[in-house]
Amino acid sequence: MTPPTKLAQGRPYLAIPGPSVIPDAVLQAMHRPAPNIYAGELVAMMPGLVADLKRVARTVHQVAMYTGNGHAAWEAALANTIRPGDKVLVPATGRFGLSWGEVAASLGADVQVLDFGKQSPMDMERIVDVLRADKAHEIKAVLAVHVDTSTSILNDIPALRAVLDDVGHPALLMADCIASLGCDRFEMDAWGVDVTVTGCQKGLMVPPGMSFVFFNDRAEAVRAKQNRVSVYWDWTPRAYAEQFFQYHAGTAPTHHLYGLRTALDMIHQEGIEQVWARHAVLARAVWAACESWSTAGSFAMNVTDARYRSNAVTALRLQSPNATALRDWVEDQLGLTLGIGLGMAAPGDPAWHGFFRLGHMGHVNGHMIMGVLGGIEAGMRHLDIEHGAGALDAAADVIGGLA
Ligand SMILES: *Cc1c(COP(=O)(O)O)cnc(C)c1O
Repeated sequence: MTPPTKLAQGRPYLAIPGPSVIPDAVLQAMHRPAPNIYAGELVAMMPGLVADLKRVARTVHQVAMYTGNGHAAWEAALANTIRPGDKVLVPATGRFGLSWGEVAASLGADVQVLDFGKQSPMDMERIVDVLRADKAHEIKAVLAVHVDTSTSILNDIPALRAVLDDVGHPALLMADCIASLGCDRFEMDAWGVDVTVTGCQKGLMVPPGMSFVFFNDRAEAVRAKQNRVSVYWDWTPRAYAEQFFQYHAGTAPTHHLYGLRTALDMIHQEGIEQVWARHAVLARAVWAACESWSTAGSFAMNVTDARYRSNAVTALRLQSPNATALRDWVEDQLGLTLGIGLGMAAPGDPAWHGFFRLGHMGHVNGHMIMGVLGGIEAGMRHLDIEHGAGALDAAADVIGGLA
């Protein structure tokens, strides 16, 4: 076959599940001289920023900001609520759930993992059994990942709340919404979530480097009973800052705050309901294409039941080494970067090359999604990877409002 002319020159597209595409407006907001951190615009901006962040998480409670990534927010949530020896329950549906559990273990928690594998959501019956058996209420928190980005499984957080309520178990319900916030519907207060952790580089469209822990009164009461919480992780001064430096326990991530301000403006101008609706339609277009591709060859969606698919990310399977070959080709030839498979096989295991993921979170629209899907179609044709027909037609029907 004659090698095709390279078509990668032009705007590159990082279609991985985080960091996500950064809007030009966010980049422009960050491109400025160092601002004063003692007075002036940046300091004045904070109350509005906090209020608008809470609106995205649908909470009227508190938020603490951390100059760190999602791993920082994981640790912060635990540092304020869990003592060495406390039990925590981790209903895991992928790598991220397991990793949060590992962070808890490293802080001295007694971690019980309920592993639901890589293709199924949490099984509430099994969680009920564990909570019922814990008559002494030794489990202090349930660490639930809303969307596990490695498997793209969406978990039913309200159902988990209902389980805790039915059993009458007082454990804190903590939700990792790092992948889902601003993509999949999430309602912290209405769903009865006590602690929500998220990062800025996925649905919030800001370069990696900030993360957030939202906490309600129940979580605050647990925090108040801790013997000690390190000055750095303590969420109280960050949430109740009376002076600017307290929000960040030191120097503020100045330029990130400007980027975040703009991203929040974009989200609220569009409207959070519309943001969710846009993600839902774009995700349906992705699934329609993937379902068509899956009708022949080895192409398969990791999550078969559409009820448990996230609107932010899609994990996919192809016979090894085709997933890596496809990713390499579309990046090199088209300027399109697809996500690696995560947590499905160990790096070094040949099976590793049979997984990939698409990010469709944040600053994405109809033509971008059609472009990603078209790039994958072209790549599979070029590489002679067997696949079902009609994927782009199926996606266009969704984008065009016909399906
Ligand atoms: C991205 C992600 C994380 C990790 O965030 P980092 O910023 O890489 O530390 C954790 N949980 C979920 C669900 C994620 O998507």
